[in-house]
Amino acid sequence: MKKHNFYAGPSILSEYTISQTADAVREFAGTGLSLLEVSHRSKEFVAVCDEARSMIKELLNIPEEFEVLFLGGGASLQFCMAPYNFLEKKASFLDTGTWASNAIKEAKIFGEVNVLASSKADNYTYIPKNYEVPADSDYFYLCTNNTIFGTETHTDPHVGVPVIADMSSDIFSRPIDFKDYVLIFAGAQKNLAPAGVTLVIVRKDALGKVTRPIPTMLNYNTHIAKESMFNTPPVLPIYSALQTLKFYKQQGGIEGIYQLNRAKAELLYNEIDSNPFFKGTVTCKEDRSIMNVCFVMNDGKEALEDEFNKFAASRGMVGVKGHRSVGGFRASIYNAMPISSVQALVDCMQEFAKTH
Ligand SMILES: *Cc1c(COP(=O)(O)O)cnc(C)c1O
Repeated sequence: MKKHNFYAGPSILSEYTISQTADAVREFAGTGLSLLEVSHRSKEFVAVCDEARSMIKELLNIPEEFEVLFLGGGASLQFCMAPYNFLEKKASFLDTGTWASNAIKEAKIFGEVNVLASSKADNYTYIPKNYEVPADSDYFYLCTNNTIFGTETHTDPHVGVPVIADMSSDIFSRPIDFKDYVLIFAGAQKNLAPAGVTLVIVRKDALGKVTRPIPTMLNYNTHIAKESMFNTPPVLPIYSALQTLKFYKQQGGIEGIYQLNRAKAELLYNEIDSNPFFKGTVTCKEDRSIMNVCFVMNDGKEALEDEFNKFAASRGMVGVKGHRSVGGFRASIYNAMPISSVQALVDCMQEFAKTH
């Protein structure tokens, strides 16, 4: 029986992505070779990489000034590459969770780091709102979706300085206004492909402004010049990414996915809010993520946590156990998740309430 996959990452991929990738592992593009053994410089694979990059530009409506790259090292390497390439003197950060604070730690190696606001004292249950970004910041940095804590910034910031965003867990979930961004990055394993590739969208004319020397592999310009083929790129994840992009297009593009994501999130949050056995962990409802839905047993029902985990598992739910820093449950309902799986979880919560 195929399970309902609520894992936070690596996470659900569309059936289309998985079956197309499986076929290409057997034989890739009529080459008589497996995708696993084909040269990254073969014309067939170069065509895959080019098509994936141009489909990303098309789907997200990315302006001309930006380049789309596929890099290694995960989103975590971007915590270092971003300040290496953009931080000359001072940058301003919003501390909204574990991933933002990891980025803050790395940036401190490169220059002055100004943490404008933090919700850490409240275990990151909301996104800080009232802060001002100093005009002399080289950039403003934020993590748009806090995978662990289930909070999300639903709009693109316009703060008077360039913006850098970690969109690892909400890329392709909503339209993006690129106006103020100079860099957006996302590890593939939440909304694009199997782990192993990082999507980087970088504004070309914003590069080259720091005075420090940058190691070749950590310099975005190296990868721009070679169209992500400076060294061997992760061939299989890039192939899978292209299949996911085709799936997104079939779903009505980003606008279609966004509508579906909102419907999925509403269905689940409505259940959390109305079922007396559960409550949401995010204190500010407007900050609730449409990708990672965090909830716990309601007051007085805490002792039933293990039992609900077992109950959900027995009904085919996988990965709903919450992250250790929040506890309770987390249902990751990424772009590829059909609403029928969210409905199955809602049914399971209702049945649990009826039988306990
Ligand atoms: C998962 C995640 C990361 C870490 O990604 P890696 O590819 O494992 O380095 C960073 N930021 C966010 C928001 C994430 O969800």
